[in-house]
Amino acid sequence: MTEKQTTSEKHEFKAEIKQLLDILVHSLYTSREIFLRELISNASDALDKVRFESTKGTEVNDKDIPLEIKINFDEKKKILTISDTGIGMTKEELINNIGTIAKSGSAEFLKQLKENKSDANNIIGKFGVGFYSVFMVAEEVVIKSKSFKKDSLPVEWKSDGLGNYEIQEIDEELKRGTSIEIHLKEDAKDFAEKYRLESTIKRHSNFISFPIYLENEKINTISALWREPKSKITKEQYTEFYKFLSYDTDEPMDTIHISVDAPIQFNSLLFIPKKNFDIFGFNREDYGLDLYVRRVLIQHKNKDLLPEYLSFVKGVVDSEDLPLNISRETLQENVIFTKIANSITNQVLSYLLKKAKDEPDKYAEFWKEHGRVFKLGYSDFTNMEKYTQLLRFNSSTNNNADELTGLEEYISRMKDGQKEIYYAFGNSRDAVSLDPHLEIFKRKGIEVLYLYDPIDEFIVTSIRKFKDYDFKSVDTTELNKLEKLKDISEEENKFGQLEKDDEKHFDSLLAKIKEILGDRVTEVNESKRLIDSPACVVNPDDSMSASMQKILRLTNKDVSVQKKIFEINKNNKLVRNLLKIFKSNSKDEYITNVVEELYESALLLEGSLTDPYKLVKKINQMLEQSSEWYTEVKKL
Ligand code: ADP
Ligand code: MG
Repeated sequence: MTEKQTTSEKHEFKAEIKQLLDILVHSLYTSREIFLRELISNASDALDKVRFESTKGTEVNDKDIPLEIKINFDEKKKILTISDTGIGMTKEELINNIGTIAKSGSAEFLKQLKENKSDANNIIGKFGVGFYSVFMVAEEVVIKSKSFKKDSLPVEWKSDGLGNYEIQEIDEELKRGTSIEIHLKEDAKDFAEKYRLESTIKRHSNFISFPIYLENEKINTISALWREPKSKITKEQYTEFYKFLSYDTDEPMDTIHISVDAPIQFNSLLFIPKKNFDIFGFNREDYGLDLYVRRVLIQHKNKDLLPEYLSFVKGVVDSEDLPLNISRETLQENVIFTKIANSITNQVLSYLLKKAKDEPDKYAEFWKEHGRVFKLGYSDFTNMEKYTQLLRFNSSTNNNADELTGLEEYISRMKDGQKEIYYAFGNSRDAVSLDPHLEIFKRKGIEVLYLYDPIDEFIVTSIRKFKDYDFKSVDTTELNKLEKLKDISEEENKFGQLEKDDEKHFDSLLAKIKEILGDRVTEVNESKRLIDSPACVVNPDDSMSASMQKILRLTNKDVSVQKKIFEINKNNKLVRNLLKIFKSNSKDEYITNVVEELYESALLLEGSLTDPYKLVKKINQMLEQSSEWYTEVKKL
């Protein structure tokens, strides 16, 4: 065959690819065998695409050649060739696909790789860096490709991975598809050996759904495992398939194999990973289930089969009942598709419910890993009941911050006559348990859910109730429902009851405090909730809770502090002393100073004090004053 050269063009790689290549070319990663997985998976994608085009009725080049992957090697010349009869690439496509990094996470990936050298094997293994990983083993790569598109010319692409590539149209009789000729580096020459190739392919690419021939011998299994009867599948097979699918190196936490015949037929094989894959936070878009119709892959990572809050689930779905030529764009409008999606969602939730019930320890592990994503489901009204049953929080009844409580459990521990589910928000268990609003709950022995994650607040405010019980923040006003409940400790207040007369003075003191604080508060009341602390602010019943206001203030600077009710505990040393001072001189300036300080400290505690300087200055003044008295008393 004569090879008539057309003009060859030299192109430079884009900057980020150069960086990636630089790292890969000079790498000695032990997991560099994954380059083979990447190239085979590209070949398989290309085959899926051409099959998809054919089923749609598009006219394709060489429509009768078998869909397959061939791997050949020349041990002496250290050459490995991987070819497929897939969709192929035109010159433009080669330039665009193999000259740029399209994936959104790539830049972030590079950063991780640079900062995290020691862990590079792991990172490469998890993320796969696609085509370029070939330069871990190659000193030169030659791609020849012919597109499925009629009238397209064969092209050749060549590079040593150092900065440039050459591309040209070639006058060669090529069949549709792509072949990648790899000239191996000296230290990677074992990839031109049968045993090494065979074991690597079996390890990473066994479930590729097209035949892989190694020098004419078929070496992969090609079974659609999800269609096999459950009883015939071993745990090892499930694990192997999971690893193939997810690129995880660990076995899955859970395997859910679903087989439904009526009213709609479908099979689904789903896995819950042991670890949350979103480790770097940039992989958010990388989820979804692979959708097959009668074993033909219709879409990789379809995002409509499961709601986003179940996006930690990996797996495949295959149905006989969907039309083969369905387009990805119209999937969502297809009734059968919707029914399949609903059924899968339902089954995953039921699976989790059973796990939560039968193996609470294992469920806690699941929650620790995937709970953050799961919580996003607070607007799935269709599955609200299951969703709420699966929620977990930390609570005052738990012994430490790691223990978890479900809502069902909370209800089972409610006090006689308790009508609401109480929650408090804070940064940590220590912070929440010091919240003065909780004093009455401790006195009554009422359980309070501790919310640490901002999203928890969205959950309780949007689901609003569980069974017949409303969620109620501990810092809202209305306490009548609480006061009626019995105290668990009989401990009397150590200051004794106020005299009738003093009760009146106390009311006047409250009025005085209101006068001092003016418009900053809506009311000043005697507190029924405080046991030890002198004062706190509470939110009017119909208003947002303090933490919600805080979240809004973080996102939108214009939200002003909502006016609050100021509560004073008359059974507190400081307050009793204030009362004495007030009785002797209602205009004493000391009262103003203390009230200002108490009010600002209360705001500080609930996180809504915007200007701490004033407060600190005032505290310092008072300390100075008290140090004077102290030195006088001690006669220093
Ligand atoms: P990814 O596969 O994640 O898109 P890769 O770096 O592996 O990233 O491949 C980049 C692109 O090059 C692919 O999306 C595809 O368009 C194209 N490509 C790679 N290998 C082949 C092939 N064998 N046949 C057709 N196109 C290919
Ligand atoms: Mg790829």
